[in-house]
Amino acid sequence: MIGQTGRWALILHGGAKEIAPEEQEDNRAGCRQALAAGTQVLERGGSAIDAVEASIRVLEALPVFNAGLGSALNSLGEVEMCAALMDGNTLDIGAVGALMGVRHPVSVARKMLRETPILLVGGGAFMFARDNHAELCDPSALIVEKRKESLEALHDTVGAVALDSSGNIAAGTSTGGLTGALKGRMGDSAMPGCGYYADNSIGGVALSGHGEGIARIAAAAQIMAAIERDGAEDAIAKALSQMSRVGGDAGGIAIDKAGRTGWWHNSPSFAVAMASSDSPEANIWLNKQEDTKQDG
Ligand code: ASP
Repeated sequence: MIGQTGRWALILHGGAKEIAPEEQEDNRAGCRQALAAGTQVLERGGSAIDAVEASIRVLEALPVFNAGLGSALNSLGEVEMCAALMDGNTLDIGAVGALMGVRHPVSVARKMLRETPILLVGGGAFMFARDNHAELCDPSALIVEKRKESLEALHDTVGAVALDSSGNIAAGTSTGGLTGALKGRMGDSAMPGCGYYADNSIGGVALSGHGEGIARIAAAAQIMAAIERDGAEDAIAKALSQMSRVGGDAGGIAIDKAGRTGWWHNSPSFAVAMASSDSPEANIWLNKQEDTKQDG
């Protein structure tokens, strides 16, 4: 049954990646802070869209994650970002790709949500952001020192999925993409059915990882098609097992229409935080082994 249950749930992630021991605490703390921002919205009866945006804005503001401040640098040493929000009630989508010079790409995606186009890229996305009073900044203000030093490809897009007490589901993503990518490259995070999807009658999903691979297997679409039959976690695990066909690793989070959450990853780590009306205190893990240990 959809909606009006009063139940809410929120799950978010800080990226499918390797987390160095000295970064574990910042990852946990950032996920905790983002979860608190989203659950505050849901606890007072706010919308899933507002909760997802609030959570992702926190992650974008923290340099430990590859989104907003601290984004990965492209082959020209620039920050180009992708973000998306999807409303599972109306199936409205707002997304931006290869966007420069804004502090919170997810909030530009939010402003796009009720517009006719679902996705704007590059200069067009920037013009939309400027004309709609997004928080602009010098593109170089988003560059942090550690990204200049890091040559390996990072996978730490952030994402969130929420169910609100009216039964509405929303999913969102935000990323600086892959380190050293060609200028103008857009991965899965802005593309519906690839890096995210939401539909009140099924559930919602958000992914992180190697964007070309995630897009080539249409991971979000696969997960949406399987959630009802397999449950959120198995649906993600089965879809991600297809990554071996195209290469690269990934992680995903999902909520079904009844508010059951699931997550899975085949990357070394995947920082995840979760809370719900049934279990309001924050649960935070850096990988699936931690989760299994707690259960066992
Ligand atoms: N999925 C993102 C992309 O390919 C990268 C990431 O997850 O960090 O753009």
